[in-house]
Amino acid sequence: MADQSKKQDKNIELLIIGGGAAGLTAGIYGARAKLETLIIEDELVGGQIRDAYAIENYPGFSSVGGVELAERMQRQSLEAGAVIDDLDAVVSVKLSAAEKIVETNKYRYHAKALIIAAGSKRRQLPIAEEEKFRGNGIHYCELCDGRFYEGKHIAVVGGGSAAVGAVQHLSNYAAKITLIHRSEKLRADQKSQQALMENEKVEILWNSEIKEALGNERLSGVIVENRLDGTRRQIELDGIFVYIGSVARTGIYKDYLTLDAEGNLVAGEDCKTDVEGVFVAGDVRSKRIRQLTTAVSDGTIAALMAEEYIRQR
Ligand SMILES: Cc1cc2nc3c(=O)[nH]c(=O)nc-3n(C[C@H](O)[C@H](O)[C@H](O)COP(=O)(O)OP(=O)(O)OC[C@H]3O[C@@H](n4cnc5c(N)ncnc54)[C@H](O)[C@@H]3O)c2cc1C
Repeated sequence: MADQSKKQDKNIELLIIGGGAAGLTAGIYGARAKLETLIIEDELVGGQIRDAYAIENYPGFSSVGGVELAERMQRQSLEAGAVIDDLDAVVSVKLSAAEKIVETNKYRYHAKALIIAAGSKRRQLPIAEEEKFRGNGIHYCELCDGRFYEGKHIAVVGGGSAAVGAVQHLSNYAAKITLIHRSEKLRADQKSQQALMENEKVEILWNSEIKEALGNERLSGVIVENRLDGTRRQIELDGIFVYIGSVARTGIYKDYLTLDAEGNLVAGEDCKTDVEGVFVAGDVRSKRIRQLTTAVSDGTIAALMAEEYIRQR
């Protein structure tokens, strides 16, 4: 742990936490507005999209690799004049209308305005083969990858509104959908549950968990265990879509900002929080639709709101 007393203090106009699509977009807008703009990222710049094999719903690109898109956004943000520190991590914050102090491993920043674009991480299917089949049979985004399963048999894992909503969308493509849920109750709203029950393509396996994924190059099936009696069965499948929650990296903000039940930060469509000068953008913002287009939209709005806030002070 770094020695707090040795941290160098730095002033900055616009500080952005997170170098994903939302943060990089905020960086482009902030720097183009001639704000001194710093993006802090502790992993690879680009965030979640780096894990996307092919993106086919981002306007302007019929199909683009996630890494390529991330690198383009990074380049554009740097060309606009933003500075990206991708070797540091934000470890604590102190937020009020009067001051926004952001501590990283190396520095203590005093920002005029702060945009939190910390994203989220989808909880991964907890099986050994997850990494092997990720993007190649195991997926986390029905809007992104659903269309690859036209006429196929797929499974959806989960029992909340994200899983039930995904089943509805995936029904546009798949011939059969097996919903695998670890309990005997769904957590989606009644209307969606009813639509699910009436959907002839859907079969539900209650009290069940995937224990193993099968296949050589591609996923070809799973072993499912019944949690009540421990019996196991093999199911042939072409793909799995997983919705077992996400992990927001928001613990450090909880004393200052409102968190929703999933740990995401509450802010309006204008990305403003209850603390003046603190904005939230992208997947970390409490909202229903999490896509690249909504992340870059938030990044745009947050940066323009931050510019307005700084200029008015
Ligand atoms: C496999 C996969 C495929 C997808 N495919 C598509 C698709 O085809 N189309 C589509 O529209 N969407 C797709 N998505 C969703 C899309 O990628 C996200 O909605 C979008 O990238 C979110 O961007 P973001 O900037 O809000 O968050 P993120 O991309 O999560 O970025 C947040 C960044 O903040 C950093 N960070 C967080 N906390 C700290 C801290 N304390 N200090 C420093 N850095 C921090 C993280 O390291 C991360 O890099 C996909 C997602 C995945 C996982």
